Amino acid sequence: MLGLMQNRQLLVSSIIDFADKNYGDVEIVSKTDSNQVHRYSYSEATYRIKKLINALKNIGLKKGDKVATLAWNDHRHFELYYAISSMGAILHTINPRLFEEQIIYISNHAEDSILFFDQSFANLVNNISKKLVSVKKYVIMKSEKSDLNIKLDNIISYENFIDHKVKDLDWPNFKEEEACSLCYTSGTTGNPKGVLYSHKSTLLHAWATSMPDTLCISASSVVMPVVPMFHANAWGLVYAAPMTGAKLVLPGSDLDGESIYKIINDEKVTISAGVPTVWLMLLNYMDQNRGSIMSVKNLVIGGSAAPKSMIKEFSDKYNVTVLHAWGMTEMSPLGTVCRLLPKHNDLSIASKFDLKAKQGRAIFGVEMKITDDSGVEMPRDGKSFGNLKVKGPWVAEAYYKEPKKILDEEGWFNTGDVATIDPDGFMQITDRSKDVIKSGGEWISSIDLENIAIGHEKILEACVIGIPDTKWDERPLLLIVQDKKSELTKKEVLDFFVGKVAKWWIPDDVIFLEELPHTATGKLLKSKLRDEFKNHKIV
Ligand code: ADP
Repeated sequence: MLGLMQNRQLLVSSIIDFADKNYGDVEIVSKTDSNQVHRYSYSEATYRIKKLINALKNIGLKKGDKVATLAWNDHRHFELYYAISSMGAILHTINPRLFEEQIIYISNHAEDSILFFDQSFANLVNNISKKLVSVKKYVIMKSEKSDLNIKLDNIISYENFIDHKVKDLDWPNFKEEEACSLCYTSGTTGNPKGVLYSHKSTLLHAWATSMPDTLCISASSVVMPVVPMFHANAWGLVYAAPMTGAKLVLPGSDLDGESIYKIINDEKVTISAGVPTVWLMLLNYMDQNRGSIMSVKNLVIGGSAAPKSMIKEFSDKYNVTVLHAWGMTEMSPLGTVCRLLPKHNDLSIASKFDLKAKQGRAIFGVEMKITDDSGVEMPRDGKSFGNLKVKGPWVAEAYYKEPKKILDEEGWFNTGDVATIDPDGFMQITDRSKDVIKSGGEWISSIDLENIAIGHEKILEACVIGIPDTKWDERPLLLIVQDKKSELTKKEVLDFFVGKVAKWWIPDDVIFLEELPHTATGKLLKSKLRDEFKNHKIV
């Protein structure tokens, strides 16, 4: 027997409509491309979103059409998020840090019909526009109707584009399973793959993200996604903030320690989220300038492992609780958050930090397990590590325009991560499956070794890769960037591992580099290093 409840569709438009009606005067503060601070309210944003919908309809945009953005986190990008999805078209956020060839591939693959871009990407757009075969219109997200300093046909400034009277608009209604946005994975191997989110998956994800034991976002919060809006929906925060009535702060393109520090303090940010690199810059800035961030209660760190030393420094020096989080583009992206349980209150401080450095427990809506290579589930004992697999209503079931199945027979998605899960459900990533070092039939976690290395005060960045070894199959090689002022020796570095891991885990050699290569999403590009050092001989 079916229930007798209303079958209201979960649509992105309902979020902004709710914010307009219930938190209409709550602020969205944003740093624009021209480095101005722009302030307005959810109601003013909603008015402009409706103007944007009218403008998009006027030029013939239809349901299901793709509209691309190359933009930082600001109020215009926010308007695009809501206008495009609410009218039934598909928002395609492109990562401007990708190589030009990848951006061309992505845009053509998605068949984008309009491209909105920030002034700071004008050169990029000039370089690639001839190869963007489906794009018919360009909109530059400049303030006001200032001169357009770019040679392209069919281009208009954002403010000119939306300069229409708003006829009152009823939000279109359609099925919640329809697509609202598209984001490509960075494609460290092969071509980038499109993850096509639905209205329903986006709403459920934002809802779960806001819950008290997830990120705890409410009308008392001031939320600042430092994670870009072109990277997995800014981890859902641009939806979670209006859904809960939180003030939203969008930091624009300046993500250095000083800029982030200033905006946090100016706007009294209570929760922010980003990758470890950003928070390292903030810590360095605060260290050098005796700063503090009194308003911040939680910093969400994810995208790659948050080092324990960083979690501890935020807590000990700045009284900020780090929420270590894990997820991926294919998961909208949030999968786990690390919050201790009441039963951990009496743990020693050291044990608490050991737990906080784990990636945490599944949030409601995400199912998780680890298996060996033959698919047999492994015990949740916190020690056995295996392939991490997930299920859930905001996990992808296929890639856009890719016929290949990505789920197994039982509907599990293999994340490509290797992890442990302890009896309380705390998951810890030990590696990417392609990065784990297989030595003498056993697995060595490159991430564990990297975390130990960066715990050394003179090591700025570390990377561990497996290099071929005739006897053991693979052995770990450590590559580090050291503090400019220090002159560490190999022996000093290797001695630092003694007593922290099993002897056979200790890297065979250390290489000192000026810098390490990164992907467009700021992760270590291990494939390049593996290639470069595959013939490295230990001396
Ligand atoms: P891409 O796959 O395109 O590099 P994603 O942002 O989707 O971009 O990357 C997801 C991957 O990032 C995860 O599968 C995992 O390997 C890594 N990752 C994300 N968060 C964490 C974390 N907290 N700790 C360790 N690794 C993480």
